[in-house]
Amino acid sequence: MTRRSLPLLGPADAALPPLQARWLAAALDDATLPVESNATCDDCAMLADPSVPAGSLVFSPATRCCTYLPTLANFLVGGALRDGSASVRRRLAEGVALSPLGLGADAAVLLAEHTDRERFGRDPSLRCPHYEAASGRCGVWAWREATCATWFCKHTRGERSKALWNRVQQLLARLERAVAWHCALALDVPPAALARMAPLDTPHGLPRADVVVRDDALWGRWTGDAEGFFRACTAVAEALSAAEVLALGGSEARALAATVRLARAQLLDDALPARVMLGRAELVGLTATSVRVQGYSHLDPLVLPRVLFDQLHHFDGRPTEEARADASAAAGEEVPIDALAMLVDFGVLRGT
Ligand code: SF4
Repeated sequence: MTRRSLPLLGPADAALPPLQARWLAAALDDATLPVESNATCDDCAMLADPSVPAGSLVFSPATRCCTYLPTLANFLVGGALRDGSASVRRRLAEGVALSPLGLGADAAVLLAEHTDRERFGRDPSLRCPHYEAASGRCGVWAWREATCATWFCKHTRGERSKALWNRVQQLLARLERAVAWHCALALDVPPAALARMAPLDTPHGLPRADVVVRDDALWGRWTGDAEGFFRACTAVAEALSAAEVLALGGSEARALAATVRLARAQLLDDALPARVMLGRAELVGLTATSVRVQGYSHLDPLVLPRVLFDQLHHFDGRPTEEARADASAAAGEEVPIDALAMLVDFGVLRGT
């Protein structure tokens, strides 16, 4: 069990699609983000492989992690169309959850199906229409939305990294919605369509799957030219400065940006809690010399030497240094601080 020198940070534009990276840079004082080097999309870390311990949860090469249906805001739809995306054109032709705000997805279906542990990463019936099975790549990579851009199967700092990415997702999703509405207004979508897209019984985000605005009259001057409309949305979004985008996001976006900065500061804080105790530790694998233990995520277990695992009971809420001294004495070797910190990062131990 080793601990990398932490945390590894890289430029936002290496991790995020170009537009969203530019917006994030404007929202933060320091636009670096964790480099999730354990989540290797080019060489998927979740596929079965001789190096993967028997019994590990693996994804299907037919889906990888893309058992998800992204909601694509209008300007993302237009960008993907401009790049020649056949999968986006197919979704347009199918017309499911299609409106001047973009291409939607049913949140209830996503919750019920796409978060099912048995099906996620494995069920081909849930495969994203933009996933290219032959290459294992995303067909709309430069125009992927907030969830796709911030989701990783593994995190270099476990729960701490994930907390930061979740906050970035919230902020970007808010900005994507704000820009989508701005595009609709800027391009003269008629009030009747705006009313259909903002039903009184749901938050005014992107539409539910059953709020489909296919009625020609509701596209105003864009009737019969949805593709032209979406491409125009991309031009509108690209012309916005990052400051203008943040202003469109309003006080909610500013508040979310503050939560991103907080999560980032917490990521950078390497101090161990003064007292720790067992967290969400679940044994998911065992050999003569090691254990595989799941903490914050079933997709990202840690492999620990058994000699260390056998000493975790010493961490029962007493002062951390005292518990570490007892654990080291019982193990007959020093329990490294780095190992403890990693167990805390991954939720196997937690501060009290
Ligand atoms: S849009 Fe791309 S990254 Fe997102 S689920 Fe589909 S294929 Fe995967």
